[in-house]
Amino acid sequence: MDRIKKNFGFGCMRLPMIGEEVDIEQTKQMVDAFLDAGFNYFDTAHGYIQGKSEKALKTCLTSRYPREKYILTDKLTANYFKTEADIRPFFESQLKICGVEYFDFYLMHAQGLVNYDHFKECRAYETAFELKKEGKIRHVGISFHDRAEVLERILTEYPEIEVVQIQFNYVDYDDPAVQSRKCYEVCRKFNKPVIVMEPVKGGNLVNLPEDAKAVLEDLHGGSPVSYAIRFVAGFPGMMMVLSGMSNMEQMQDNISFMRDFKPLDETERAAVEKVQEIFHSKDLIPCTACRYCTDGCPKHISIPDLFAIMNAKQIHHDWNADCYYEDVHTAPGRKASDCLKCGKCEKVCPQHLPIRKLLEQVAAEFEKAPAAN
Ligand code: SF4
Ligand code: SF4
Repeated sequence: MDRIKKNFGFGCMRLPMIGEEVDIEQTKQMVDAFLDAGFNYFDTAHGYIQGKSEKALKTCLTSRYPREKYILTDKLTANYFKTEADIRPFFESQLKICGVEYFDFYLMHAQGLVNYDHFKECRAYETAFELKKEGKIRHVGISFHDRAEVLERILTEYPEIEVVQIQFNYVDYDDPAVQSRKCYEVCRKFNKPVIVMEPVKGGNLVNLPEDAKAVLEDLHGGSPVSYAIRFVAGFPGMMMVLSGMSNMEQMQDNISFMRDFKPLDETERAAVEKVQEIFHSKDLIPCTACRYCTDGCPKHISIPDLFAIMNAKQIHHDWNADCYYEDVHTAPGRKASDCLKCGKCEKVCPQHLPIRKLLEQVAAEFEKAPAAN
């Protein structure tokens, strides 16, 4: 862990895209800018951008820089192994795709009650610890999405776990489902360095409601993202804060306030608390746009996009949202009302959202019959 240079990492789940493909040229420029600014931590997983994130990292990072220049984290995800015997070949394929001989960190992905049982049955943890002994993994950790008591159980059963990645941001801080604060406290209790994902809640803390935006604008400049990330990074024990940057502009903004990181001062913290209150007063869908739910949906419903436009309408009273619903994010047979209620999406949603029920609300909002003249 002593090779980590700074507390800010490049999350490679939302790389810049041109249509369906990663924008390789822009990604290369972002990688260069990130390394030039003195950062060196990169985070990926096999499922990110349907397998294209790992490949892009080989093209843009690992084939262009010596191994000691960067720290690379990858993950073992439940849907890529059915038995213990599947794990090693999958792991080896990840090394090959990424173009490296070892991963600095390898995380058991999206641990929670259901996934944890599968990982235990398949001896995934034991396999990862063996791979560590063989030098193919430097540090074994978990990424976690469940209640604090489940985290406590995992850390008790596997004390060898070295780091824990949790969702942590100022809106989820005391959220009863996400339990950011409680999970953080468990990490501290077990003395595990923390990696933070979703510090801007999948982009939800970027385009703030007008009243919330005004609170931050009354400070001394700085983007909403800067306050969200600095809020998180200021807690003791935060080893790394990941930001899923999607273009050079976001990269430059993030670098500007994380290069010489300073935690929020008292006035800034009070402003963020006000923004927290404003958020909690709105009835928003806490979707982080991870898109885990979309692959298995038999109706190919663009679930996170529908939730995003529902939130946009709620926050900004954005009437464009209706056009987006009709013309961009739905197609015949793929509307919210076409949901079959099979529940496949809810089984994989790390935020434990009642997706079927929420889609009913989306349908009620956007599929109203036009008023009769
Ligand atoms: S419950 Fe609806 S949205 Fe979810 S996977 Fe099934 S059809 Fe798709
Ligand atoms: S509904 Fe859940 S699984 Fe789907 S994108 Fe949102 S947070 Fe992710």
